[in-house]
Amino acid sequence: RAKESGRDRVSVFEPAMHASALRRLDAAARLRHALAHDRLSLAYQPIVDLRTGEIYAVEALLRFDHEDFADWTVTEVIEAAEESGLIVPVGGWVLDSAVQMLGQWLRAGIRARLNVNVSARQLESGGELALQVENALICYGVPADMLCLEITEHQLVRDLDHTTVELEKIRRLGVRVALDDFGTGYSSLSYLPRLPLDSLKIDRALTCRVGSARDTLPAVLRLGRDLGLAVVVEGIERHDQLVLLKASGAVLGQGHLLSLPLGERAATDLLRIGSIRIENLVDVVPSRP
Ligand code: C2E
Ligand code: MG
Ligand code: MG
Ligand code: MG
Repeated sequence: RAKESGRDRVSVFEPAMHASALRRLDAAARLRHALAHDRLSLAYQPIVDLRTGEIYAVEALLRFDHEDFADWTVTEVIEAAEESGLIVPVGGWVLDSAVQMLGQWLRAGIRARLNVNVSARQLESGGELALQVENALICYGVPADMLCLEITEHQLVRDLDHTTVELEKIRRLGVRVALDDFGTGYSSLSYLPRLPLDSLKIDRALTCRVGSARDTLPAVLRLGRDLGLAVVVEGIERHDQLVLLKASGAVLGQGHLLSLPLGERAATDLLRIGSIRIENLVDVVPSRP
């Protein structure tokens, strides 16, 4: 019987499987269960105008507030979801939930823009992402230019032709597109001007080196400006980094120094206030309710 042969197959291959592969299968199973039982949630991390402290936008980040995920990091679970294809329905849930939240904020008179991470797998799945995005915007009454989709440099470059076509469809709606984790390996800059992009998000790996001999941030900031792209510096953790970044002309930033990812309530409160006090920031991870 199918069940028996399935079990046989597992017993044949199991010894050869890496522990990490088994762990990813486990994570995918837990994620599938969490999605089916409505146990996923979102955190929102502010993207801040470094000149004024104004909240420029918030990025929605997937969270698993359940003991099932006590031993897993977000990155690990996302990787498992990518591998299993589960990222497609999970990403659909994220998009819908985040745009719904944005619609609520806008209706409450709260000024907000929203960034949502998308996987290349979502762009592959039958060209439906643009349609899904359009539906969510209509359903929750959100203007397209309040939404920005983030895709990692790594994923975009893997299937450049196809992803470019799909992202163009999304941009035609008026939705913005950001290249996430920029600077993590794919240093061929030749493709950059051809990509359908509105902004670059510079990875924390580059932010860490700010002020050192290997600091490439000023060059990347210039590149972004030359290409007419908005640039967001990720992973700002220390005040000395912030000072150097501002001196290099960085305009938008994100990181624990500015704000941790916030739950729905705290994010709503902060958006209502509309800004953080840049001058009061101290070198500890701020604790927020
Ligand atoms: P990302 O899109 O580059 O998001 C930034 C990550 O850096 C987040 O991790 C955030 O919590 C973390 N972070 C922000 N500021 C700092 C800082 O100052 N220092 C340090 N050390 N970390 C900082 P998180 O939430 O664990 O997410 C990890 C990655 O998982 C994200 O990286 C993104 O690629 C992916 N991800 C999260 N949510 C989603 C989602 O809904 N869909 C997809 N496809 N991917 C997601
Ligand atoms: Mg991101
Ligand atoms: Mg990033
Ligand atoms: Mg990342």
